[in-house]
Amino acid sequence: MKKKINLLIIASILGLIALSIIQGYLINNTYKLKKEAFIAETRRSISQIDDFSPALDSLSDYWQENFINKLVDYKFDLAKKDDVIISLQHVLDSINDTYISEYQKELIRNNIPYGIKYHKKVTAIILTDSTKKDTLFDISKTPKQIILGDSITEENSIGISTSNWKTDHTSDRMIDKEHKEISFNLTFQAQDEMDIAGWKKIVFKQMLGLLLLSLLIFSVVIGLLYYSIRSLITQKKIADIKTDFVNNITHELKTPLATLTLATKMLQKDEIKQQPQLIDNTVNTIERQNKRLQKLIDQVLNNSLGYNEIQLNKESLGIKNYINTVLDDFQLAVKPKDIIINRNFSILTENIKIDKFYVTTALLNILENAVKYSGDTIVIDCNVESKTALKISIKDNGIGISDKDKKQVFEKFYRAGNKEIHNVKGLGLGLYYTNQIIKAHNGTITVESIENKGTTFILTIPFN
Ligand code: ADP
Repeated sequence: MKKKINLLIIASILGLIALSIIQGYLINNTYKLKKEAFIAETRRSISQIDDFSPALDSLSDYWQENFINKLVDYKFDLAKKDDVIISLQHVLDSINDTYISEYQKELIRNNIPYGIKYHKKVTAIILTDSTKKDTLFDISKTPKQIILGDSITEENSIGISTSNWKTDHTSDRMIDKEHKEISFNLTFQAQDEMDIAGWKKIVFKQMLGLLLLSLLIFSVVIGLLYYSIRSLITQKKIADIKTDFVNNITHELKTPLATLTLATKMLQKDEIKQQPQLIDNTVNTIERQNKRLQKLIDQVLNNSLGYNEIQLNKESLGIKNYINTVLDDFQLAVKPKDIIINRNFSILTENIKIDKFYVTTALLNILENAVKYSGDTIVIDCNVESKTALKISIKDNGIGISDKDKKQVFEKFYRAGNKEIHNVKGLGLGLYYTNQIIKAHNGTITVESIENKGTTFILTIPFN
């Protein structure tokens, strides 16, 4: 059964891990899709801005015209390649601020709610005429950037589109009193790029519902699993306790019943009837076994009592006298065993109001355990203090209780692991009942123990 539960726990954990991986994969995919969709949507919204804005259009006309003039100079050998590029950069710089502010106005006009930076980045300028192809600028060969618009860092830039401006141009000039004509074909390539401020946050916000829902489902699944496994373990514990209890009680009942059968048979014998001494002994045995059976039945019946159901019949008792009587009676009862009981009293308050019957039962349970779970010579130290409360410590030199068991010895039916080794009889109800009695007196019971050294039970009962 334990193996099965362990297997179930391992299988559930593996299942959960697999589920988390799949869930993580799906969320990641959704994130990518949402990101793509968001970027595509933004791309669509802003791709037209350039074309439909008269202000941006006139700025474009302005720099293009300027640029073409410079190209004509270049073609007439009045400027160098570098001059063309520098002049293009200058003219773009001169209109850049206006371009940026016009672009932002357009964004507002088009109801685009998030901060977008935009620029055109020149990627290639190629001139062709009937004789040659002349590359003035190629970004793949020169890392230099010529841009119109906001500056955007490489890692934040998101591509929008590639634009191609192709134009044929013919121009004439008087050079050295000579009329010259040139014609060329311009290919101007640019990459439109944008940077959307906080796009990760925006996408995350869009996914928040999904994330929360999956988190909720996940927590519910984990919760249910935890609850099921816990219930399973508890049920197994209860089943074990029941089996143990039935075994223990059968074992406990067998001995007195066998003795009683034997004693009855003895009394039926004629030769015994002639010997009054033997009759007395047998009757005493019957009485002892009877008491033992009665005690067993009482234990079983009382185990259902919670401390608040115990009806106390308190009376005022002289502490020293009362405890001495309990110890004397106990010592007499366990006579056959080699037992030493040391008593130490430190009494400030002489009397206490307690239920004599119940407290005696509690003390006897602890004393009997001290004998049951001990070696051959038994030394019990009984310390009684009565200062602010009545404090009785009963210390034995027995087998002790492990740290793990210590936490559970007051639980109903609990028997520590040592029961198998020492084959000591019991139902696991004595300490539970003792605890209920002490609680009913508003007191506490604690246990201190070192394995193979001994155990001390400390009972504290307040004076009122
Ligand atoms: P039981 O009928 O088994 O004695 P108890 O409730 O009286 O039931 O005790 C619970 C368990 O606590 C015992 O089974 C035993 O393992 C452990 N125990 C109690 N008293 C002592 C002690 N003085 N020394 C060692 N172990 C003890």
